Amino acid sequence: MVERANILKCMDRNESAPAIVISTDRRGDYDRQITLLSPVWGLRRVTCYGARKSQKAAKASLYTEATFNLYSNPERHSYSLVDLTVISDHSSILQSLECAFAAALMSELAMLEKGEEAESLYSLFTISLDEVDEENWRRILIQFILRYLDLVGLGTDYVSCPVCSKLYADGDILGFSSTLGVPCCPNCDNMAGELILPPNARAYLRDSLRTERERAMQFRISGNMEMRLLRYLTRTLTYILSVDLKCLKSGLLNSLQ
Ligand SMILES: [Zn+2]
Repeated sequence: MVERANILKCMDRNESAPAIVISTDRRGDYDRQITLLSPVWGLRRVTCYGARKSQKAAKASLYTEATFNLYSNPERHSYSLVDLTVISDHSSILQSLECAFAAALMSELAMLEKGEEAESLYSLFTISLDEVDEENWRRILIQFILRYLDLVGLGTDYVSCPVCSKLYADGDILGFSSTLGVPCCPNCDNMAGELILPPNARAYLRDSLRTERERAMQFRISGNMEMRLLRYLTRTLTYILSVDLKCLKSGLLNSLQ
């Protein structure tokens, strides 16, 4: 009976769920620490013992999506990787600068999540990563940023001004309120026109949010317009989230076309 009780106790300490690796760091000479985004656990830091040296240790490289089996150590409030069953390793992502940039930006945003919207975020993250390529990466990012902001409660509908509630007119060029961290009508703009959104770009964002992501991905806009919209949205992120995102500070976006 004692033995059975011990086995049960041991099983209690193993947890298994789908997740994706969104960051990985060295930890000492032998180990790695990874961050998982999971619909069940939200964000979870996990130690992979021996991952840097041992051939036998379970490997969980960046962007590996898998069912992860973890051992939980309640005394140390920590988790370690036991093994994993790979769903997709997304290995092609890191072979393209554009895809790597898109994935890095989505990961940084996901890392800021507090855990309440884990299921929707996981699904948005993994579908974006499955679909991203060198042709559509700008559109993937635009749709990701829009929907991410909506999920975490920092979005706007691009229909009416969040500051004064006035409905936008068709020809309005939106400004930005740095105090509230939102795009707004020209009257509420307090950035002297530094961060503006033209009418056709506003219509694209508004219509995107009114429909499913899959349909919004089919909306036709020019490559130039995509790039301008992506630059606009990434600039607004700094004000909306009040953080400097590492992959934006690198200036890499400016060198991509
Ligand atoms: Zn206003």
